[in-house]
Amino acid sequence: MTAINTIPVFIGHNDTLLSLYLPERGEGRSFFTRSDIGHIDLPRAREGRMAGGIFAIFVPPDPLIQPLRRDEVIKTDSGYEVPLAASIEQGYALRVTMSMMANLFKIERESKEQVKVVRTVDELTTCLYKDIFTAIIHFEGAEAIDPGLDALEVFYQAGLRSLGIVWSRPNAFAHGVPFGFPRSPDTGSGLTVAGRELVRASNRLGIMLDLSHLNEQGFWDVANLSDAPLVATHSNAHALCPTTRNLTDKQLDAIKASKGIVGLNFAVTDLRDDGWNNSDTPIEVMVYHINYLVERLSIECVGFGTDFDGATIPQEIGDVTGLPKLINALRESGYDDDALSKLAYKNWVRVLSKTWK
Ligand SMILES: [Zn+2]
Repeated sequence: MTAINTIPVFIGHNDTLLSLYLPERGEGRSFFTRSDIGHIDLPRAREGRMAGGIFAIFVPPDPLIQPLRRDEVIKTDSGYEVPLAASIEQGYALRVTMSMMANLFKIERESKEQVKVVRTVDELTTCLYKDIFTAIIHFEGAEAIDPGLDALEVFYQAGLRSLGIVWSRPNAFAHGVPFGFPRSPDTGSGLTVAGRELVRASNRLGIMLDLSHLNEQGFWDVANLSDAPLVATHSNAHALCPTTRNLTDKQLDAIKASKGIVGLNFAVTDLRDDGWNNSDTPIEVMVYHINYLVERLSIECVGFGTDFDGATIPQEIGDVTGLPKLINALRESGYDDDALSKLAYKNWVRVLSKTWK
């Protein structure tokens, strides 16, 4: 039976722009044409009732300097370790960022008012009401930004409204967390002096800061400095799946105290208690995670992150058209319409309202 869902779903993180940018990922697919490659395009988003989300601009390693290596995972007795990725150069990051951002603006222009890059809460809520697909520009790693923060000012004017200080590699602002299981996220030092300035400047401008991919010290540095709600767009509970990418109970408590949000990551490696990259992962595991997060953080501070187009997700979900199956499973486990609307979009809108100027 096909699951039907009428609640709009806003998602905290996706890598669709990367899939459209890299031919080896997206095979040149178009955002407007239904495809079976990747997880999101507009026709599938409509079918899954995805109303929009935070669109990551992730700069892959420079192919001229570091050929893409896929097999960096080192198996250990109880899980895996991945060496921390090398940093990338700012000029290269800037060029790739411009190209991916330009592509999003082209999609907006060619969409005949079906897609809008939103910069204000008014725009976001109007689009939700009118059923216009929304995209919020996010950088997954601040490599394109110079330590003097000139690029931050310019990108803010262009529409940047969400910023992950690091991906899992070091840059001028902080040290990313290397992937590993089972392992604590406490893997090294936190923000640099420039990183602390970046937090202050983002607060001033009203750019949401994303704590996913920071190591634990970086997390606490932002928690101590930032005046905005704390946000992890795509991370899960370390107590249930002890990867470096997930949040300890103490971190979850800090996010709750700030009235922030955790977006459930659908990546099976961050959901499963064995950390395996195995798409044969039942939806119940996702429900179990949501239950844990809701118990720890309250129903006000949990949303969906997904990591669509960026990770292996449970095959029962498959792609964005599978969202209604998760909503249904949550409904069956006792969440009413009010709770489901909070998880599906209202909590994201609340946090963005508190953060954006
Ligand atoms: Zn990520």
